Amino acid sequence: MNMKKIYGIIGDPVSHSLSPTMHNAAFEKLGMDAIYLAFRVSPEEVGDAIRGGKSLGIAGLNVTIPLKEKALFFVNVEEVAKKIGAINTLDFSSGTPVGYNTDGIGSLRVLKETTCEINGKNVLILGAGGAAKAISFYLDTDGARVTIANRTKERATQLASKLRNADSIGLDSELRKYVKDSDILINATSVGMYPNEDATLVNADMMHPDLVVFDIVYNPMETKLLNEAKRAGVKKVVDGVKMLVYQGAASFKIWTKREPPINVMENAVREALIRKL
Ligand code: NAP
Repeated sequence: MNMKKIYGIIGDPVSHSLSPTMHNAAFEKLGMDAIYLAFRVSPEEVGDAIRGGKSLGIAGLNVTIPLKEKALFFVNVEEVAKKIGAINTLDFSSGTPVGYNTDGIGSLRVLKETTCEINGKNVLILGAGGAAKAISFYLDTDGARVTIANRTKERATQLASKLRNADSIGLDSELRKYVKDSDILINATSVGMYPNEDATLVNADMMHPDLVVFDIVYNPMETKLLNEAKRAGVKKVVDGVKMLVYQGAASFKIWTKREPPINVMENAVREALIRKL
């Protein structure tokens, strides 16, 4: 008898994650005998959780806040994820857990669909955490001129120093000038995320209509930053759902070697977010 395949996400907090909704919708659409669950795991337990996952025959895991960097120490890490310094996907199919990072792939795909060309663009990334690391690595590799703006300036400087063509700033008065000179603005901080939905680091009066504004926060779908962008007449405004779906689809492909049903996954996430309103 074939055993049901088990996939999941580890993190803390994790109960709010929409990854189970998204992946289970994909399994159902493709008629796969598989299930995706959420497991609450603290940073102290991440090594035990990964070893236990392997022993229990779990097929694949996503890794989320605050484990993306710590999990690196317990797995073999694929080259790009090693350069990024964080993983969000674990594949157990070879027996030894292998760590990948699909966050950057997801964001690049979103931006390429929105703006076509990344090469030579001025990109301002707010944040220097796990997501910012992955996104900035891919954009820098693709030829963008990246500026990292972070509350803790040292983290921005440290991240920029690892990139080929990047600058770093804090979140002070300089920010206004950098927003004005940017082609693309990406919020990769948790500012504006539920339950602090009224927060934004950049307001309408700092933006220009040709700026692309991409908020990777997806709960709520329309963040205060995106609201401000619309108020400023920004033509290209992108929410975080597509990135969630694309990074999930890339993980799905690593685990199952099958083409993920992207539209089904996106609809499942958007419906779940609307139901929460
Ligand atoms: P993280 O590693 O914890 O980094 C958090 C970042 O936010 C840091 O740069 C931190 O600055 C900054 N920050 C937090 N609170 C702030 C505040 N009040 N003011 C200014 N800056 C603040 O988290 P992460 O994994 O990068 O995730 C960041 C956000 O992206 C989360 O909301 C997450 O849900 C979302 N995300 C979305 C996707 C997607 O697929 N759409 C994928 C990954 C993550 P300091 O360095 O100063 O602390």
